[in-house]
Amino acid sequence: MKFRFFIALIIAKLSIPALKITGHNATDFPGKLALKICPMFLKYVAKPKKIIAVTGTNGKTSTANLTIDMLKRFGVETLNNSRGSNINSGISSALLNGVNIFNREKYETAVLEMDERSAARLFPYVKPDYMIVTNLSRDSIMRNAHPEYIRWLLEKYVPETTKLVLNADDLMSCYMLPNNERVYFGIEKLPTDTVKCYNLINDLQICPKCDHKLKYEYRRYSNVGRAHCTNCDFGSPAYDYSAANVDYENMKFTYRGPDFETELPIIDDRFVNLYNETALVTLLLQLGYSMDEIKDKLGTVEVVKTRFNHEVVGSMKVYNVLGKGLNAFAESRVYETIVAQPGDKELIMFINDLGLAAHWSENISWIYDTDFETLNVDSIKKIVVVGDRGLDYQLRMLFAGIPEEKLVHVMKMEDAIKQVDIVPNMNYYVLYGADPGSFALGNKQAKALAAMLREKTQAPAPAAPAKEEAPEVPAEPTDGEEARS
Ligand SMILES: [Zn+2]
Repeated sequence: MKFRFFIALIIAKLSIPALKITGHNATDFPGKLALKICPMFLKYVAKPKKIIAVTGTNGKTSTANLTIDMLKRFGVETLNNSRGSNINSGISSALLNGVNIFNREKYETAVLEMDERSAARLFPYVKPDYMIVTNLSRDSIMRNAHPEYIRWLLEKYVPETTKLVLNADDLMSCYMLPNNERVYFGIEKLPTDTVKCYNLINDLQICPKCDHKLKYEYRRYSNVGRAHCTNCDFGSPAYDYSAANVDYENMKFTYRGPDFETELPIIDDRFVNLYNETALVTLLLQLGYSMDEIKDKLGTVEVVKTRFNHEVVGSMKVYNVLGKGLNAFAESRVYETIVAQPGDKELIMFINDLGLAAHWSENISWIYDTDFETLNVDSIKKIVVVGDRGLDYQLRMLFAGIPEEKLVHVMKMEDAIKQVDIVPNMNYYVLYGADPGSFALGNKQAKALAAMLREKTQAPAPAAPAKEEAPEVPAEPTDGEEARS
């Protein structure tokens, strides 16, 4: 078996320069090849001494990237899979890069984004010392079934020795693996929290211990908030570390530990990223960095004050927004963020999951889990939907009570941007799905819209090109089974 492993190692390593010479950018290919030659490749490949894993339904990529960036600021170069996928082929590729041809490890520390659904293929061989679980929420039904199934998978395969960094506000994941050492992070009660659930997804209503009704003290969205059982001792755990006094005006918050509190900058004003930042700080404390050092290094991270990439055209703005097609929970957060922004808005939706459509049948059930109702507000003046699937979106939005006169459907992609009204101070949002086909299309259409507005209004070109804040680029084309989320 070892012989087979070394053959796999050498051939997969040789494929890297071969891919470069032929101009291919297939980051997962060497890992795929290694696994094909030696299915136990992940078992035998040498691994860094310290492995930090990031998993969960939403926020994995952002949290893993933040962790890699912060560790770099501490002088730690990490082995990571930020350029490849988060399934076994991407992780095999990353580990392959981390060893020489004698299988000697070159890195001390790995930060691996690990797909929660791939637990059975990853955790028996890659055993994290620390693992952040961002949250577990409803994802693509075809791929992930129910979040309780994903929790069962993680509970079955994550080693007992892994120290967990868990989100105390997420009742779906916070009580998993009770025998593992753990710390809890969360965001303390916010003025916008409610008791009633206003979201279509409301997955944890019954006590997982005794099946009695749960009582929510408050909710942020869906099952995120704090609750306790009306019959037994089950309830949200106490925070070890928490964010409080969240102040987006001044981009700062209070970070509280068991015996201290300090003020930290909010490094990205998308609310979901405050969870990611809180998780990151909590992890860094577990790794032994001092609060002062962490605060110091966080202060050097450039604060992202624009929620989405955008281009300014005179008094108008064109936003380029990566939606999360197939993931109703994440897509609903995107709508909340858009609606919370000031000003009138027109939306063009390209969330048609074109890449997936090429591989298998699209499943549109998720649009009935998504809070399109959020978009039924006065500030949204028009919504343009595109293609065959556009009619499904249109129907869904009619169910959400959005007036018919606000909805426009066109068949051809290139006709969509022509449907917008050119109005001073208008904010245009071009939304597209996370699969690579939609991703390229959305970017292109946002640029085309800005160019069209500029031409029609004779608006001057921007003094400096709009900053290209790297959005989370999805992993390379995979079959639908293996999409990164
Ligand atoms: Zn109970």
